[in-house]
Amino acid sequence: MATATSRWRALAALLRPDAGRWVGLGALIAVGSGLILTGPLIVRKIVDLATTGTTTSELARLAVLFLIVAIASQLINMAVAWMATVTAWHTTNEIRIRLAKHVLGLSHAFHRQHTPGELIQRVDGDVTSVSDFMGRVIPRAAGALFMVVGMIGVLIVVDWRLAVGATLYVGVAVGVVVRGRHRAVGESSDEMGSYARLYGGIEERLTAAEDLRSNGAGGHAMWRFVEDSADTMGSAVRREKAFLRMWWGVDGSVAAGSVVSLVVSAMLVSRGIITVGDAFLLFQYVLLLARPLEDMVDQLETVQKANGAMVRVIDLLAIEPDIRDDGATIPPSGPLSVEFSDVTYDYGDDQIVLQTINLNFAAGRSVGIVGRTGSGKTTLSRLVLRLIEATSGTLRLGGVPIDDIPFAELRRRVALIPQEVELLSGTVRDNVTLFDETPSDEAVETALRNAGLGALADGGIHRELGAGGAGLSAGEAQLLALARVWLRDPDIVVLDEATARIDPATEVLLEAAIARLTRGRTTLIIAHRLSTLRFVDEIVVLDHGRVIEHGDRANLADDIDSRFRHLLDLAHDEAPNEVPNEVAVP
Ligand code: ATP
Ligand code: MG
Repeated sequence: MATATSRWRALAALLRPDAGRWVGLGALIAVGSGLILTGPLIVRKIVDLATTGTTTSELARLAVLFLIVAIASQLINMAVAWMATVTAWHTTNEIRIRLAKHVLGLSHAFHRQHTPGELIQRVDGDVTSVSDFMGRVIPRAAGALFMVVGMIGVLIVVDWRLAVGATLYVGVAVGVVVRGRHRAVGESSDEMGSYARLYGGIEERLTAAEDLRSNGAGGHAMWRFVEDSADTMGSAVRREKAFLRMWWGVDGSVAAGSVVSLVVSAMLVSRGIITVGDAFLLFQYVLLLARPLEDMVDQLETVQKANGAMVRVIDLLAIEPDIRDDGATIPPSGPLSVEFSDVTYDYGDDQIVLQTINLNFAAGRSVGIVGRTGSGKTTLSRLVLRLIEATSGTLRLGGVPIDDIPFAELRRRVALIPQEVELLSGTVRDNVTLFDETPSDEAVETALRNAGLGALADGGIHRELGAGGAGLSAGEAQLLALARVWLRDPDIVVLDEATARIDPATEVLLEAAIARLTRGRTTLIIAHRLSTLRFVDEIVVLDHGRVIEHGDRANLADDIDSRFRHLLDLAHDEAPNEVPNEVAVP
């Protein structure tokens, strides 16, 4: 977590790109405050002239001046409101973009600890609070500050005693606001945190609704929801209490200030130290000051929310990505070799998931990886994509250590077809191109046909797929992911085969599509069905995070003592009249 000073520095850094706009806004606010202070000065003059006797035309002239000042002050107010909103939006949009990019760049471990709902609340909810704060609170606070400084300056000229009194009053009132604010900020931060947990939990349970319902776990899930809600309400009540305490404090000091100013002025006027006009000026200034103070209390919720939000935004930005994009070596063109040297991996807990992996796949080879569930196959594939980094050891692609390859290059050269393909709501085309407008419709259709989804291409690629790609099976979703890869034409493809059972027809399509895809690239295929591996060159068998067998597919299949042969035999026994189906446990 960042310290308070480094947080302020971080906030200043966020504002710096828009510094020009903020300075312009500040100047406008200063002029506005000056005009507000001018009004009572004119009234003071009118009162003093009226009590000492003057011409009506002189009074009328002052009245017109007062009117002009009042109108100009309103116009400037409008300009300030407009400019403040525009500037705040501009700045916070930049923050939102930075935050979104930052979060996307954070590690696998980070995303495991934070649900998507929570991150949406951070990137959008928190930044909106900051935007409200910058657009509404900062301009008013700046206006109040200019006003106080100007007011004390004017009072010093009128009578130093009035200036001292006003300074004391301002000191007490601001002290009340600042003390209350500090107390309330913690509560506000807690409240926002519990909202984030609540939303995160709801999002997670909605995503898992089918699993929860089918396992009869609806009751437990609901109970968690009740607990989270109670927690949220508790912190809302605590925040509200802190807020009320402040409200009374500020209202009290405003009332006391008015009474004291009237009593003191009456005394000074009766002794002839100040004029009635001066007394009027002081009273008006005290009332003027009451407005921004009350505003501050009204805006306090915004201040509290924004302060909590700002702390979280800055702390989030301060989290360093574990995986840094600082490589500069471009691997040779064409298919790339993949070489694991003494690679070990654990997910940060004690359990070692991959143990001293030494594997070397030549460029252009296709490799089948098999092993029982939890043996580390998906973990191996994440390493090749650099979604995670080896705890120790080195992984080289085309002879270049993977952390020396720039991310952009790595993403262009290496593609993953994950075990669970995420489809997005949009057309078939959008799902293949991932919303890239560049590829032609023909290219998309060819990719779909190559992936064995000719039927989907025939149905028209501008057809909507429905939310989350509803209507496609797990197998079909994988075929669609194959089409994505086809379009990108990478040099290394990692395919993590869907575990969900797929129907024999889709299986045949998948097999043929994979066979086509392996040509001209290095392919790692994590297979749950041995039939998928009929075309591969090599086989690796993983067990409890270790390589227990590696060799040419043909040799291993012929060797009656090999694990792979054993797997093939098991698969045959289970389904003697079909192509070998699910991988059995070694
Ligand atoms: P499957 O055949 O079921 O897909 P797998 O071989 O792909 O299994 P992995 O997903 O690589 O297995 O998991 C290997 C081990 O690492 C498992 O013990 C699992 O519990 C652990 N593991 C996997 N992902 C994570 C994670 N994100 N955080 C912590 N542990 C994990
Ligand atoms: Mg897996």
